[in-house]
Amino acid sequence: MELKELGIAHPELESAVAMQLALMDVQRRIQGRVPLPWIQSDADWLAAQQRAGRPIVRFGDIPLNWSDFRLTFRQTADILYRYEALDRTEHQEILTLGRDGHRLEPLVSQWYQATAGVEPGMNPSDRTPAGSPASLDQVLVLALRPFLARCAEALVQSVDPKIWRYGHCPFCGWEPEFACIMPSAERRLVCGRCLAQWAFDALACPFCANADRSLVTSFATRDGRYRVYACDVCRRYLKAYDGRHSTRPVLVSVDAIATLPLDAAAMQRGYVG
Ligand SMILES: [Zn+2]
Ligand SMILES: [Zn+2]
Repeated sequence: MELKELGIAHPELESAVAMQLALMDVQRRIQGRVPLPWIQSDADWLAAQQRAGRPIVRFGDIPLNWSDFRLTFRQTADILYRYEALDRTEHQEILTLGRDGHRLEPLVSQWYQATAGVEPGMNPSDRTPAGSPASLDQVLVLALRPFLARCAEALVQSVDPKIWRYGHCPFCGWEPEFACIMPSAERRLVCGRCLAQWAFDALACPFCANADRSLVTSFATRDGRYRVYACDVCRRYLKAYDGRHSTRPVLVSVDAIATLPLDAAAMQRGYVG
């Protein structure tokens, strides 16, 4: 509802809203079919992982049903292509990959393990084979989301907020894509892959851990609803929903689209998303 209203109030965002609605529809349908996984992890292992800054969802914990995954993978690529977020060549390459189970399954496993960092020594630059389409990351992030979201749900009690003060996701290791400022002024980060939330320093940069306030530029929209934190060390920025001035909680699918003009403003100032 909120998304549809956003599209009506801001016709310039209509296409982004329509794409978001289509992606959410696919994810909701699949996520409803994914069982809540029963993940058994040793308490000492969980604590040691977190102290070392390593997330807790291992590839084997993900309740992946490959035919559901292939369906999500293909439908995600189709939606991105329909809304011109993928070009024709990449779309074709990704569909071909999705049809070939012998290539897709090891690729997803390698990609997750290289980007999650659950095991020490994994290198994110080895995540996809050389020559893979540039948008493969984006398709994989979206296609794996319904499965990973269920893992984060199952493990929500296993993360100790006193130990986990890192800028990456305690469940899947991905970067935050959004943040939310709570009425208590605490800042929570939202994972760009599994959408889990975790508490983080109110001002420090989650990408490079820079905590020098004079090197973090922060600016808000005129209505005070949204804010950008931009780091003058690594030049990355993060958008946030300011719950101190609002009556509803953060809705990442809506707020990420409503703040597209803020991305333009941050990039104009030389920051990167
Ligand atoms: Zn995550
Ligand atoms: Zn930084």
